[in-house]
Amino acid sequence: MRLKQLIAIAIIVVCAYACKEDNSVEEAYEKELAEIVEEEKILEFGFDLSHYEFKRDTIKKGDTFGIILEQNNIGYPEIYQIAEQTKDTFNVARSLKVGNPYTLLFSKENENDSLQKPTTFIYQKSLEDYVVIDFKDSIQAYTSKKPITYVERTATGIIESSISKTLDEKGLSQGLAYKMADDIYAWTIDFRRLQKGDRFKVIYTDKYIDDSIYAGVHDVKAAYFEHNGDSLYAFRFETDSVKGIIDYFNEDAKNLRRAFLKAPVQYSRISSRYNLRRRIAVYGYKVRPHKGTDFAARIGTPIMATANGTVTESRRRGGNGKYVKIRHNDTYSTQYLHMSRRAVKKGDFVKQGDIIGYVGMTGNTGGPHVCYRFWKNGKQVDPFKQKLPEAKPISDSLKVKYLDFIVPVKQRLDNIFFLEAEPINPENTIKESPITDIQ
Ligand SMILES: [Zn+2]
Repeated sequence: MRLKQLIAIAIIVVCAYACKEDNSVEEAYEKELAEIVEEEKILEFGFDLSHYEFKRDTIKKGDTFGIILEQNNIGYPEIYQIAEQTKDTFNVARSLKVGNPYTLLFSKENENDSLQKPTTFIYQKSLEDYVVIDFKDSIQAYTSKKPITYVERTATGIIESSISKTLDEKGLSQGLAYKMADDIYAWTIDFRRLQKGDRFKVIYTDKYIDDSIYAGVHDVKAAYFEHNGDSLYAFRFETDSVKGIIDYFNEDAKNLRRAFLKAPVQYSRISSRYNLRRRIAVYGYKVRPHKGTDFAARIGTPIMATANGTVTESRRRGGNGKYVKIRHNDTYSTQYLHMSRRAVKKGDFVKQGDIIGYVGMTGNTGGPHVCYRFWKNGKQVDPFKQKLPEAKPISDSLKVKYLDFIVPVKQRLDNIFFLEAEPINPENTIKESPITDIQ
């Protein structure tokens, strides 16, 4: 309707300028515009919305399915019937969330009727997922997904001060930083210590819903990072299609993941490193060895197990405060001190990245942090000085396949050049045709 009004205004404007001109030209133009209006389809949720009157809104606090329909002239017996008959597909009484969008469709036939009733309620569970409750003739409900498109792109960047700033300046998604810092290089590069001049190239896919709504970086296919003079390649490869296991390996098929995470907390800073010769003022500058690494973080920050293992201790004791100790294998154990709360108990099996407790100040500590202690063969060592074991290596048979697979990808990566002299440049992200279409 709104579109028609706009077109009508456009016609009037055109008229105002063209009225003194030849009438037939004007008529032809008008006819052309009318045809454009006819052809304008609004495809969404599997409907051509141009065939309907429709109302879009979001669920407000206090809204219920009943209230929404009642406000749109549907009576309670019918609302009850609709809710009852569709509850196995979608429970309208329980599943509506404040802030989520919904759309009501009305037939165009009675568009001037002030008591017009909707025929369809469409609720968006997420950007992708929606549920249609149709009560035009018979009552039916079904869930569906919006079409998703992936677009492959490439990007480069040189670190000036931080990766997020570099991405910002180039108009690139911060999602790229998260993918690189958390999924790909979490074990090999400390993103809190990037240096000026470090640089990267990536081949990645962006995700779009309905061809137009940007839904973030979907995945990184390959990356190259120069850090501290080291060149680190990373190629995404599925090692188990049944379980859907995907890992990143380097150009020699070495897994980039390590058996241990670099830190037990995200977005923290190291406030004190492992140091056997530490001297502290409050102790009269006597040597007080620090056998842990302190990560300062806010109280309540989740603490993660840095590797798979079994909890051997979870308790409160003396200067350690509340702590958890995990045995990973015959060689390694790790310990996490000063928690505000523990989230695991002795005997629990934990996976790398699982939350085992929260940062606190229990025991001997001057501020909120987690003291991370790394045990090797019963002795506390500096985890940053260890050559930590790789995560599951690639099998020999897969290795051949992998090395074959990466040849063209690496070639592509090597052929991307750093184009840093230019400001925000759309050509830095080479848009290619969509590569996949789901549905
Ligand atoms: Zn400590």
